[in-house]
Amino acid sequence: MRKPFIAANWKMQKTNSETEEFLNAFLPLVRGIDDVDILIAPPFTSLETASRLMKSSNVLLGAQNVYFEESGAYTGEIAPSMLIAAGCSHVIIGHSERRQYFSETDEVVNRKIKLALTTGLKVILCIGESLEEREANRTFDVLNTQLTGSLADVQLNDITIAYEPIWAIGTGKTASNEQANDAHAYIRDWLGKNKEGADSVRIQYGGSVKPDNVKGLMAEPEVDGALVGGASLKPDSFSQIVIGARG
Ligand code: PEP
Repeated sequence: MRKPFIAANWKMQKTNSETEEFLNAFLPLVRGIDDVDILIAPPFTSLETASRLMKSSNVLLGAQNVYFEESGAYTGEIAPSMLIAAGCSHVIIGHSERRQYFSETDEVVNRKIKLALTTGLKVILCIGESLEEREANRTFDVLNTQLTGSLADVQLNDITIAYEPIWAIGTGKTASNEQANDAHAYIRDWLGKNKEGADSVRIQYGGSVKPDNVKGLMAEPEVDGALVGGASLKPDSFSQIVIGARG
């Protein structure tokens, strides 16, 4: 039995003081919940503040991105060890917005995953197809390519996969429960055929998850949690999603 894992991706939203305001409201709403893993990934600039406020809480801290070198002349980049020093246990890698706007390839994603894992971070790897690819019946081909490239020479310990169909991110259009489960089943099968330990890997669904659709998604056997963008920005809606994932 895999423990549900609900993660918030705030993207480029919330200043330090907005982060503080959110956590002061949110942490009491989820206090004592220990049957769901809860994670928040704020912008880099809010990590220290979030880490301080979440220190003795049941909420984990993640970053939204990381670089694949440990130090050096890489203006604007952040190393895995810096994230650990700031209090992160996790990092999101390969989000479709990074792939789309910052030209991240599977090779870059793979390098980031490797350094993050060896440095001691846990990784949430994002994969998923575009609408065009789904309509051309290429969803599983795309997932196969992304998994093959991103997970080359990577073991599954400390990896969570987030299946995020691009057409469902920030659009209000959620994949049906069945579409999500089918994609997750494909991913689980791929992991089983190519890696050790596939059964214990958690696969999150991401794409317009809200308080009113989380229960249906979580009822699917292969859906182990959610990566939540828009609905994670308000303490009430994000806490309702966490509570809805408890079954
Ligand atoms: C995301 O950014 O990973 C995401 C799933 O966003 P949203 O929930 O807003 O669709």
